Amino acid sequence: MIKRIIFDLDNTLIPWEEEYWDSLKGAFKRINYSFNDEMINKLSQAVGEYEKYYPIYKKEDLLAFMEKYANIDLPDIFLDYWLEELGYCAKTSQEIIDTLEYLYQKYDLVVLTNWFTSSQTERLITANILKYFSKVYGADEFLIKPYPESYLMAANGYQLSECLMIGDNLNNDVKGALQLGMKAIYFDLENKYHGNEYQTIKKFSDLKKIL
Ligand SMILES: [Mg+2]
Repeated sequence: MIKRIIFDLDNTLIPWEEEYWDSLKGAFKRINYSFNDEMINKLSQAVGEYEKYYPIYKKEDLLAFMEKYANIDLPDIFLDYWLEELGYCAKTSQEIIDTLEYLYQKYDLVVLTNWFTSSQTERLITANILKYFSKVYGADEFLIKPYPESYLMAANGYQLSECLMIGDNLNNDVKGALQLGMKAIYFDLENKYHGNEYQTIKKFSDLKKIL
């Protein structure tokens, strides 16, 4: 019997919008540093690549990686400013809100995200959905998905078989959780999966039919 539902955040609870990368410009402005589009592109690429090289999010590691990737020097405060700016970048849909409203009356809902806990918590506040979750687990406190430690932290006190993970990344949100004995649902929002090996939803509100 499922008791706890563990949600991924980006592109599961909050769709990622390209314009959110503009938050980097906000951070540059706060340190009076002149920037150009190429720098923004390089820095956003670095963020996308970080998990290939590091198993946990540490501000100093991420900043050093971004600096190296873009070949620029940035003060330590840049990352704090950027994470603050990013906190305002979050919109979700009425469909997702309605579904969470239904689910949180039946299950203990938490978030498990490969990003900084404080920044993701701010984004959940901005999207006005933090109230549905009893806890936000970020990857600055323990290893990122799909390391087993990540799911074990998010299960926290529940049997693994009582936990259901839901997310848009087949490796991080589905396979890793299933391997540990959790249940998992793949949120295939781009309709690219046509197999039947993994339980799949195409719309977030489909969860109301299943759970
Ligand atoms: Mg995601």
